[in-house]
Amino acid sequence: MIRLFALLTLLSCSHYQLQEAQSEKEIPYRSLASEWKADIHYEGFSADDIKKVQGAVKIIKKIISSDEFRELVINYTFLDKKQFHENSGYSNEEIYQLILLGSETTGNRLANNTMDVELELYEDSSKTIGYTYPHTTRIWMNRKYFHNYTKAQVAGNLMHEWLHKLGFTHAVKWNKDREHSVPYAIGYLIEDLAVKLEL
Ligand SMILES: [Zn+2]
Repeated sequence: MIRLFALLTLLSCSHYQLQEAQSEKEIPYRSLASEWKADIHYEGFSADDIKKVQGAVKIIKKIISSDEFRELVINYTFLDKKQFHENSGYSNEEIYQLILLGSETTGNRLANNTMDVELELYEDSSKTIGYTYPHTTRIWMNRKYFHNYTKAQVAGNLMHEWLHKLGFTHAVKWNKDREHSVPYAIGYLIEDLAVKLEL
């Protein structure tokens, strides 16, 4: 545990440090993946709603701890190259590391191995499933979708929104490449694995 903490401090996760750590093969993937966790604050959620999110988080934790998730992220291919669309200059390996390190841009890239978010449920008849802004830890979720979603869908949606917190973006309007952006691709990957593994 002390060793992990020291490594997390060491990898306080600027782009440069990530590359350096990668070349020295210092990142203890397995322990980071298995100890990854979420610290969530809730606004406007009933006890049952919270249970649903907790179920979704359990799914995300299980998937992140798996070798299959690592392989799928690291080998993700877009335009015949191992890369994501709109990757902010990060390689697949670095994107995987940012997820494990839980280094949100809103937390100055502090690597604490944790998804730190505030969730707020809101009422809206529009087709927006959820949204967030770059400089807040808060994620707004449309109650209409949240209530109809399965746990696997909530897991995919939460992961999608959290990837925005890690600094990744995508086109606002649909285009054929948008599903390969980091939030869409990894959000779908979580949902698909949850269904496949019957989580
Ligand atoms: Zn999005």
